[in-house]
Amino acid sequence: MRLPRLKFKFMNDSDDIRGLRLTEKSSAATNVLPADLAEARRLMVEEQIRRRYIRDENVLAAMAQVPRHEFVPAEFRSRAYEDAPLPIGDGQTISQPYIVAAMTAALRLSGTEKVLEIGTGWGYQGAILGSLAKEIYTIECRSELAAEARDRLARLGYTNVHVHCGDGTLGLPELAPFDAILVAAAAPSVPAPLIEQLATGGRMIVPVGDAENQDLQLIERLDGALRTTMLEPCRFVPLVGAHGWKEFPFR
Ligand code: SAH
Repeated sequence: MRLPRLKFKFMNDSDDIRGLRLTEKSSAATNVLPADLAEARRLMVEEQIRRRYIRDENVLAAMAQVPRHEFVPAEFRSRAYEDAPLPIGDGQTISQPYIVAAMTAALRLSGTEKVLEIGTGWGYQGAILGSLAKEIYTIECRSELAAEARDRLARLGYTNVHVHCGDGTLGLPELAPFDAILVAAAAPSVPAPLIEQLATGGRMIVPVGDAENQDLQLIERLDGALRTTMLEPCRFVPLVGAHGWKEFPFR
């Protein structure tokens, strides 16, 4: 069977979701979930992720397992397995499944790692990381989102994902160093505290750029040196904090 051509476009905050508001009840289809959720996830993995050359079988298995529909607002549950980002309120978005997979794969997790995530949101990326590494510490600056994500992750059994509330650009020095760091919001430059908190041999993935367009950067701490590799263009909501944007840069 021929599959439709995929657009290779990152859509963390794209036209696709403009106009959608959490308070709106969009259509009669709202809240209708695919009958077979496991099959919806399998198709998501095959058509959106494997076909875009993500080949880490552990990442693919985690994406096939984690119930993404539990990590999106009820209004958007029926769209949880679409090839698109989704709004989570307050102008923030949950990343497109492909970008979650691409960022996770770039961290090359083996299961033993202590991982730091910045920008918990609703906790989906944290649950994926929790399925693939040992302990995850995730920081969310919006206290309501943090509290809800903490409850959601606990309810769904992700006991190794620990939600902190605060400015993630400062990292968590008391728990450093981290074997892997994932920044899920767009930084004007790589926050210095996060570089300091990256273990030798560690990997950090971070979108860096201006308010509208960023590039995913992979930063590896080798013995005594940092190596930066530019991956792909992307578009995230802003990282706002002491070592990020000083105030909301747009909209
Ligand atoms: N990873 C999330 C989506 C993240 S959206 C998921 O899978 O659902 C980006 C998040 O980063 C937003 O929730 C926003 O509130 C948060 N954020 C922005 N700046 C931050 C900062 N300095 N520290 C912690 N969180 C921040």
